[in-house]
Amino acid sequence: MKRILITGGAGFVGSHLCERLLNEGNNVICMDNYFTGNKKNIENLINNPNFEIIEHDICEPYFIEIDEIYNLACPASPFHYQYDAIKTIKTSTLGVINLLGIAKRSRAKILQASTSEIYGDPKIHPQNEAYWGNVNPIGIRSCYDEGKRCAETLFMDYYRQNNVRIKIARIFNTYGTRMQENDGRVVSNFIIQALQNKDITIYGSGEQTRSFQYVDDLIDGLIRLMNTADSFVSPVNIGNPTEFSILKLAEEIIYLTNSKSKIIFLPAAQDDPQQRQPNISLAKEILDWQPKIELKDGLIRTIEYFRKNR
Ligand code: NAD
Ligand code: UDP
Repeated sequence: MKRILITGGAGFVGSHLCERLLNEGNNVICMDNYFTGNKKNIENLINNPNFEIIEHDICEPYFIEIDEIYNLACPASPFHYQYDAIKTIKTSTLGVINLLGIAKRSRAKILQASTSEIYGDPKIHPQNEAYWGNVNPIGIRSCYDEGKRCAETLFMDYYRQNNVRIKIARIFNTYGTRMQENDGRVVSNFIIQALQNKDITIYGSGEQTRSFQYVDDLIDGLIRLMNTADSFVSPVNIGNPTEFSILKLAEEIIYLTNSKSKIIFLPAAQDDPQQRQPNISLAKEILDWQPKIELKDGLIRTIEYFRKNR
């Protein structure tokens, strides 16, 4: 039985990871400051004797003996990470230094939930891990993008300087059950709007693309990455390569919800990346992993969740 710390464990992705690692027989410690996380996400786990919850902000030091750390603590939706930009970048720098310190002292393996945002508005398509990205360092998305880039740097330097056992997952847009209704990300926004027959708000032309992965596929990829040999330190893209325009996503959600909503076009979001698609050759080769859940099936599950939980 491993002792595993999951920071951001009460969030959308973190709560799924807590559940899966508990089901696999581990001791799981969920650490969260509840900025965007919610106790409801983990309420089905609290009676499990192998589950512990710590209310704590990773920007403050903490002492714990642990075997593995998954660092998911960081608001992920532009709406939430821009709410307190300074706090967002502190979380990915000061917070990450605190966690790397725990990993160094207790010889734990540590995985960083990095992001496709480190590629910015990419000039190559699809994006592979060798691409250095095209990120505005002073824009309104920078607190998140540059924070995550700095976290990757810190991970690599703790590996090079202190032999900390690190893993870096570059996660592409992920959706699924337990997303917050007011999260502001496109999938939850469109589903809630469609279920209420309200206008579907497209920012910009709707021609911008994203590649959406269902949360179960992501969890599988993260655990496989954590379990790779210590000698494997390269960042790995984890995402679904099937690319959709935001307009197509809106149409699909209207169709699947049988909604009367109309699509409206609002001004584009600042610095909005125009296209995004992961090259997942490395994940296929090293993790023997590829996503299994198609957008339609994942959307049906997510729509069902929002119908029941609104
Ligand atoms: P989320 O907002 O639902 O979860 C983030 C969790 O971290 C929340 O529970 C929040 O309360 C907690 N948190 C935030 N700041 C904290 C701090 N300083 N100390 C302790 N806890 C803190 O987002 P999510 O979609 O579940 O994302 C999880 C991780 O995966 C994030 O690091 C995010 O950057 C990364 N990621 C997610 C996606 C995606 O599409 N969901 C894509 C790329 C990367
Ligand atoms: N988007 C949109 N309407 C919304 C929310 C988002 O058109 O109500 C667009 C947004 O401008 C972006 C895409 O959908 O082009 C994905 O946005 P999201 O915030 O989900 O993720 P990210 O931009 O971080 O990839």
